[in-house]
Amino acid sequence: MSSFQDKDFGEVVVRRSAWSTRAKFSVATSGKLTITVPSSTSDFLAKRFLNSMRKEIKEKLPVKDPSTQRARDAQKKILMKKAREYLPYRLEFWATKYNYHYSGIRLSHANTRWGSRSSSGTISLNIGLMKVPEALRDYVIIHELAHINHMDHSAAFWKEVGEHDPNYKRHREQLKAFSPGV
Ligand SMILES: [Zn+2]
Repeated sequence: MSSFQDKDFGEVVVRRSAWSTRAKFSVATSGKLTITVPSSTSDFLAKRFLNSMRKEIKEKLPVKDPSTQRARDAQKKILMKKAREYLPYRLEFWATKYNYHYSGIRLSHANTRWGSRSSSGTISLNIGLMKVPEALRDYVIIHELAHINHMDHSAAFWKEVGEHDPNYKRHREQLKAFSPGV
């Protein structure tokens, strides 16, 4: 992956894929224009593709303007910094309190999930959690910790979540008002 600056579109991301047979344009959730090209394509060629399609892209794709992109990048940086200073300690706090063992923490900024637990025992927490009220944040952490004992969302899993967060049903509902994406 590489990127270059463009006067109309701001940062343009070039994604190389072995399966791709021709240039394809899309907009990432970040609002940045993304060009997917065959693996051997140079940035120079990607720019040429972009120039040849500039008008159509402007008309058809919801690329965010460069200043909006920059604002989002800045917000993401701030959230990442806050998350780094908070989430590992909060996770450790709940894990110690309820005697869970996990192998590590990973801070993510996926757009679809608040957290996950890998089979190797690493817990991923979304930096977007720094935007939600503490009670909901704690619910997500407790949810992921409970996955250490239950890989599924079975009745036994929810019973365990409920033991550590008696209001989990309400928290789960309230969390739907927020989106994990930055
Ligand atoms: Zn789950």
